[in-house]
Amino acid sequence: MLLDKIVGQDVVITSLKNSLRENRIHHAYLFHGVRGVGKATTAKYFAQCILCDTQDGCGMCKNCIAIANEGNPNLQIVETTSSIGINEIREIKKKTAIKQGEHTIWIILEAERMTIQAANSLLKILEEPPEGNIFLLVTDSPNRLLPTILSRCVSVPFKRLHEPELLGLLKAIIPQAKDDNEKCMVVARMANGSIGDAIELWDGPILQRRNLVVEKLLEVSRAPFARVLGFSIEWEEDRETVITDLAIMLKWFRDILILKTDSDLPLSNPDYENELRILSEKYSLESVIELIELLGELIPALRANARPRFILGYLLLKMKKGVMP
Ligand SMILES: [Zn+2]
Repeated sequence: MLLDKIVGQDVVITSLKNSLRENRIHHAYLFHGVRGVGKATTAKYFAQCILCDTQDGCGMCKNCIAIANEGNPNLQIVETTSSIGINEIREIKKKTAIKQGEHTIWIILEAERMTIQAANSLLKILEEPPEGNIFLLVTDSPNRLLPTILSRCVSVPFKRLHEPELLGLLKAIIPQAKDDNEKCMVVARMANGSIGDAIELWDGPILQRRNLVVEKLLEVSRAPFARVLGFSIEWEEDRETVITDLAIMLKWFRDILILKTDSDLPLSNPDYENELRILSEKYSLESVIELIELLGELIPALRANARPRFILGYLLLKMKKGVMP
């Protein structure tokens, strides 16, 4: 069955399969959870199963073939990179008035992009759903949707993937991943349960950025005070980059805390375990906790307009002071 292809969402898949088998399909669902865990793919597969002649998503019946060729009028996907406006919803309303087949399924991706007018207009449709129409709303920010919309939808919560699931998927999707177990581990840790994030991390600049920041942090522990001040002056001052850098530092010091306290929690930077062990000897427990708390305060401060250069200077000196002679 098509839905069995989804990895790591057993509860969701079982309940969707049950409703298909018992022919108990609701008229509105909200697929929600962090980004990159299979919500949109599941919505598309579920829609295909509803329309499929065998309800398996067989891939061979006329409905399945039409979906594969993106030409099934009974499956409509609303997808936009800007906002979803009232006109889009009015268009849906018009089309729901004309009965096409037994079911017409509307998938609204990134449903939180609906303007308030669009959301209110959709609410009216959901309150009196035209027969045969099924709405699958997909979002990673359900709190940005109207509570009245949420209450009209069956909630389908997606969870973060477990690390072995993430590793398996990563190796299935990216051919080179099979040969680089160490990078796989790091990416899986950093992706925190999201295959979408893992794929982005694999090719993207974040992993390189982490390496750069970590190398600086290692230097901080060795370099003299004057040099450490220099780091903050040389540091890139782009606010978003510095926020990312501080999040990397936070994970780094959490790793040091894990090693200092002999916790069995997994490290975020397992490829630097040796270096982390050496540092965990150099920092006192108090200074590690103090740095973690400080980072937790400085990230929101940066978001709220504090000067990146000032924050970095203060932080790096604190880090340097924390190193025991
Ligand atoms: Zn089929």
